[in-house]
Amino acid sequence: MTVTDARPTDSATTFDSLNPATGAVVGTFPIHTADDVTAAVERARPAATWWKELGYAGRKQRLRAWRSIIANRMEEFAELIHRENGKPVYDAIGELSLVVEHLDWASGHAKKTLGRRSVSSGLLAMNNSASLEYVPYGVVGVIGPWNYPVHTPMGSISYALAAGNAVVFKPSEYTPLIGKWLVDTFAEVVPEKPVLQLITGFGPTGAALCTSGVDKLAFTGSTATGKKVMAACAADLTPVVIECGGKDAFIVASDADLDAAAEAAVWGGLSNAGQTCAGVERVYAVASVYDEFVAKVTERAGKVRGGGDDDANYGPITMPSQIDIISRHIDDALANGGRAVVGGRESVQAPFVQPVVLVDVPETSSAITEETFGPTITIAKVRDEAEAVKLANDSVYGLGAAVFSAKKGRDIADQLSSGCVSINSAITYAMVPELPFGGVRDSGFGRIHGEDGLREFAWPKSVTSVRFNSPLKVTTFDHKPNMGQTVIRMVKARWGRGAK
Ligand code: NAD
Repeated sequence: MTVTDARPTDSATTFDSLNPATGAVVGTFPIHTADDVTAAVERARPAATWWKELGYAGRKQRLRAWRSIIANRMEEFAELIHRENGKPVYDAIGELSLVVEHLDWASGHAKKTLGRRSVSSGLLAMNNSASLEYVPYGVVGVIGPWNYPVHTPMGSISYALAAGNAVVFKPSEYTPLIGKWLVDTFAEVVPEKPVLQLITGFGPTGAALCTSGVDKLAFTGSTATGKKVMAACAADLTPVVIECGGKDAFIVASDADLDAAAEAAVWGGLSNAGQTCAGVERVYAVASVYDEFVAKVTERAGKVRGGGDDDANYGPITMPSQIDIISRHIDDALANGGRAVVGGRESVQAPFVQPVVLVDVPETSSAITEETFGPTITIAKVRDEAEAVKLANDSVYGLGAAVFSAKKGRDIADQLSSGCVSINSAITYAMVPELPFGGVRDSGFGRIHGEDGLREFAWPKSVTSVRFNSPLKVTTFDHKPNMGQTVIRMVKARWGRGAK
């Protein structure tokens, strides 16, 4: 069967969310207008003040109660994720295990990372004390994608809430029921005020959120939409964090454990039907190990199967229009000299796509240059690790990367220009709450997760306070006539005696 994009007409006020494997309606949601969005942001303002005043301890207690609800009702939520997003229940459980770890970390580390602390006042202001704290923005708008419909937006929501902001959340139009589950369970632990609200709809609803007066906008989705979001936010100088797509490289060095590398490449490329922003899309294997590595990947990938049943390794393509992109990339690779060693064009059986492993694909093919977001992997033979690094870096994207090597992993990782790298595994950095996650170039900027992720949702406020009157009064028009000479002597004595 084919599930198509059932976009409602312009006059529609609601839309259906469909099970991507069966086409069954899983829920009907309002298409929120710009007025609805503005009203939600206005409701959020007093809620933000109240939430901020709860303080770190009060927020931590509520967020940890929410964490426990998500953990306790994991099976129910995973089943719902399976129905609306299509991914197997097992994968949904994996996603939720990440979500609760991050939520716990953000709530537990907010005070230490953002709370007021004294800093050195330095020589020039030595008669002052100096302190720094990070103040929540107020109301944060979060726009999410559908591929990791909980973990991805929660990378912003958990950290924004822990920092003391209210959040207005627009989930993807493909996963509004999942967003509603999150917002409803949050209201169980924070019933007093609308600290986390849901708005639903398509692009125009997201666009309205950008210009609704939110104090910061966190966007996760495609690069094309990220540019529109940034342009819309520029009108009011609304700050943004932009988490976009990737075309992540995977390097197999001459001293790699080839079984481990093949296992990681197949899982990193095919799990979640390849619909992973930091999934493995391009593999570069050094010539001396290339044939053996390709054989191992071929064997493993040949046993992986996408489907809607309980035994399938991954589910359908959630967004029907992505099928055309995946097909185009396979066609382009094959038309330009590429060979499929697993699957081929016939692997596209909408709404499912069976694994495809392509070799000999020219670096200019769209299968190499564009994000495919499907269960396809390309493997290229390279002369040595230096060539692998050069080709890995030769991309408009720079989100994640992986390196397999017994001894050269760190050295190769240091040469890769991507926001995250895992050595001898794939995508592991996303599991570590303390590590910031995000990319460079067309993969976006700003960070979610870790201390940087908390700071992303608060602005630094610097305060000095006079402790005693300085004998050297510089910042006055009534300074002593020889003050200039005194300053020259001081600066020379301190900094002028040759570089050390
Ligand atoms: P998308 O860009 O189509 O949509 C993302 C969200 O933006 C949706 O909620 C959508 O309704 C909304 N939107 C659409 N037009 C808008 C507009 N003009 N203004 C404001 N909002 C608008 O992306 P998608 O297909 O939902 O998600 C897949 C993409 O997300 C892939 O490129 C993937 O790599 C990326 N992604 C990135 C990360 C990351 O952390 N870097 C994580 C997951 C997914």
